[in-house]
Amino acid sequence: MTAQTASMHKTSILDGKAIARDVTDAVAQVSATFAQTHGRQPGLSVVLVGEDPASQVYVRNKGRMAAKCGFASQTHRLSADVAQPELMALVDQLNADPGVDGILVQLPLPPQIGADAVLRAIDPTKDVDGFHPVNAGLLASGDVDTPLLPCTPAGIMHMIRRVHGADLSGLSAVVIGRSTIVGRPIAQLLLAANATVTIAHSRTPDIASVSRAADILVAAVGRPQLVGRDWVKPGATVIDVGINRIEDVNLGTSNLVGDVDFEAVAPIAGAITPVPGGVGPMTIAMLMGNTLKAAEARMR
Ligand code: NAD
Repeated sequence: MTAQTASMHKTSILDGKAIARDVTDAVAQVSATFAQTHGRQPGLSVVLVGEDPASQVYVRNKGRMAAKCGFASQTHRLSADVAQPELMALVDQLNADPGVDGILVQLPLPPQIGADAVLRAIDPTKDVDGFHPVNAGLLASGDVDTPLLPCTPAGIMHMIRRVHGADLSGLSAVVIGRSTIVGRPIAQLLLAANATVTIAHSRTPDIASVSRAADILVAAVGRPQLVGRDWVKPGATVIDVGINRIEDVNLGTSNLVGDVDFEAVAPIAGAITPVPGGVGPMTIAMLMGNTLKAAEARMR
């Protein structure tokens, strides 16, 4: 790139807060119509076990956003030493409650609880986190319409569609990370949108050159600023999922950074998400979308 073309290059910063607001505004409108039609609000129940400070913040934000969307939302708080049968009984009760459309059990759960068993006990039609094997299995079979999709990957796709449209034919996508919450499902969604998808992970040799082939690069690793400038093809769309808290012990401060070195990569990317204010706000917006989708499906 010459100095002249470099100065002409304009990177689009994908503003997750603004895009998330568009999503929740649309959800709130449809939710109002739902309430008029059915005589009740869509219902979201959040289960919080213990006192984890980050979980408390997430749950509070979810409750606040649910209220903005016109949902009836409840938070069920259980103590950190709750026994598994008691938590399972609550899940059963919420499964059976006709006013509850979405159930979310906030993770992480304390060590005495088998998280997989709890997530599997949730009625898949109320599984607004999209983690139940039925929803994950439908997605893996190529069905992106029937299942409730996991919120972070769904939010990422929403952002990618803003840049590239719905059909990613001819584009190469690289996902770094293979977790069940982000890496695997985002790879399935990209594949369903016709991208040519590569999943890279901790055992992939020379990730930099794999990444550099990507028109769309999704980093979901949890390693601060792992993705540097030489990992990115000029003009690529770079989606940074990482949320890493960096403490400065000398200053006594902390700040959030992503998996991408934003300062280094932004000048050459075509589009990039910041951290914070990129993918993060999309996750909660898509949770609202899932709750509405679950409510509508249950009234059909
Ligand atoms: P995870 O720990 O479950 O998975 C991380 C993945 O990265 C693994 O598959 C591993 O193989 C891979 N990996 C680890 N080190 C690597 C390396 N050096 N090179 C290449 N790959 C490597 O994490 P996760 O749940 O997928 O989350 C990833 C990040 O995204 C975390 O920072 C998390 O906080 C963040 N996150 C953000 C949101 C959001 O709403 N924005 C939601 C979920 C997760």
